[in-house]
Amino acid sequence: MASPMSAGRFLDGLRAEGLTVVEVGDWEHHNRNHKGPWGPVYGVMIHHTVTSGSERTVEICRDGYAELPGPLCHGVITKDGTVHLVGYGRANHAGLGDDDVLRAVIAEKALPPDNEANTDGNRHFYGFECENLGDGQDPWPQAQLEAIEKAAAAVCRYHGWTERSVIGHLEWQPGKVDPRGFTMAWLREQVRDRLK
Ligand SMILES: [Zn+2]
Repeated sequence: MASPMSAGRFLDGLRAEGLTVVEVGDWEHHNRNHKGPWGPVYGVMIHHTVTSGSERTVEICRDGYAELPGPLCHGVITKDGTVHLVGYGRANHAGLGDDDVLRAVIAEKALPPDNEANTDGNRHFYGFECENLGDGQDPWPQAQLEAIEKAAAAVCRYHGWTERSVIGHLEWQPGKVDPRGFTMAWLREQVRDRLK
């Protein structure tokens, strides 16, 4: 059972991993905590945004939209590999997912198929949104992939988690396809090597 780290520790951990981090507005206090709990935390979730243009991408992830108010994640990882912190606390990124998957993440075991939407993921996952159209064509620059790896590793390092605590939205919520363009198995290998 893990309490979320403080916003300050989150920022420090990302920088210590070698990331370029930009703090956007009052990110430390921008959250959805008034709508539900935040924590205990069990993992890190990776997403793609289905947007293009870094400025617009960061803005959408911070503000959200009428049907889904922001923040839509904690950190936005743009194509240049910069991490933009847009919120901290409960964020609208994971939605309802599968309790069997959550149990596997907690136990750091292989993930079962996500075929139920019965569990509040916004409570339990750190979230990174990654700028990409998600069409299978839009490239993932090396700098961005490295930043995703580092961001996930930074959170795992703080909590003493293995790469098994890093999951994709598509592994959590039925019907989701993100992230698309690399596999989570590949990303977890990178994170595992980085944590050695
Ligand atoms: Zn997603």
